[in-house]
Amino acid sequence: MPIYTKEPGVLFPRNVKELLNQYNENPGSVIFAGGTEILTKGRDKPDLPAGTVISLKYVTELMKVVRRERFLEIGAAVPLSKIVSIGNRVVPTVLYNSILCSGYPGIRNLATIGGLLCSSSASEVLTVLHAMDAQLEVRSTLHTGWVLISSFKKREGKSILSKNEILTRIRIPYGDWNRSYSRVVRINPVSVYPGISGTSLQTNPEACPAVIFSALARVSKDSLEDIRFAFGGLGRQIIRERSIEIALIGKKLPPAGRDPDILEKQVEELLRSRSEQGTPAGRETPGRLGLLKSEAAYKIAAMKRILLWFLNNLEYPDYLQQMRGLQNRQRKLYF
Ligand SMILES: Cc1cc2nc3c(=O)[nH]c(=O)nc-3n(C[C@H](O)[C@H](O)[C@H](O)COP(=O)(O)OP(=O)(O)OC[C@H]3O[C@@H](n4cnc5c(N)ncnc54)[C@H](O)[C@@H]3O)c2cc1C
Repeated sequence: MPIYTKEPGVLFPRNVKELLNQYNENPGSVIFAGGTEILTKGRDKPDLPAGTVISLKYVTELMKVVRRERFLEIGAAVPLSKIVSIGNRVVPTVLYNSILCSGYPGIRNLATIGGLLCSSSASEVLTVLHAMDAQLEVRSTLHTGWVLISSFKKREGKSILSKNEILTRIRIPYGDWNRSYSRVVRINPVSVYPGISGTSLQTNPEACPAVIFSALARVSKDSLEDIRFAFGGLGRQIIRERSIEIALIGKKLPPAGRDPDILEKQVEELLRSRSEQGTPAGRETPGRLGLLKSEAAYKIAAMKRILLWFLNNLEYPDYLQQMRGLQNRQRKLYF
């Protein structure tokens, strides 16, 4: 008999060991962190969650935030609002800003960073964490291991966690970056594609498909010492390609000559190949809103423009910061 059952079917473990044991002993049970995804899914399927629910509410080990010299370690059950409350001196600014733009305060009080990572949708926070090379600790009763965030999700957006595994900690390297930028660009297909009608899209910009771009760079004098960038919004995957980043290292800024053309071509190929892989079989056209292919083409064009815009403005860190601040207020800014 579980010790901390407060009502039938709901378990409240008090530490990670107990959590792992209970998860192991109750196959098919649901881990309940903030519940914001589980409960919104439940609107369409009122019988969800059907099995035992294991709440992370009292697992204090998963609610710690520890600052180390080279990285920040965040417990999987830390709510997004707690991360924001730590401030952007400890939390890297680009991550801090992306969390601040996720949902509204009520949602951020409940939603946890672990829940966000395990949910199947792509988000700005995830895109930033990809650019930052975050590592995730996965535990089960039998083993503990760290995985790179790029290996944590399958192509369709689901996590690689097997039935008795739990995400316990997120390690975010500080890195030696002197430029950072992240942006969600909402694309209103009603204005982009003549003939598409969608009243809900016109009245609710949040329902419009989005392009996400997150980047970090180290600039010294007028050359690029290192760069990381990731794209989100083409399906559920986050797209990053280290070989393209490496090709940019050591280049003079702003990119000149044939460099921008070569880069555009590489990025176009990368995004196109990934968007084709993400197209569900038998649904090449049309997709959601009847514009899967054209939507993907528009998103790819927007992603390339944001990347070039970022590279062209790397010499002006204050401008990048100002633009981010401005864009936070004007959620819709078309590239
Ligand atoms: C109204 C609303 C607005 C939103 N707006 C935004 C937004 O602007 N930007 C954005 O990015 N997101 C947004 N979201 C999504 C929200 O961020 C996610 O629902 C949330 O991060 C999920 O976290 P949670 O703690 O609530 O997860 P839960 O709902 O508790 O869990 C989500 C999934 O992850 C699993 N899980 C949770 N923790 C663990 C763990 N430690 N180990 C293994 N599995 C685990 C659960 O079993 C479940 O399958 C919004 C959601 C709502 C309801």
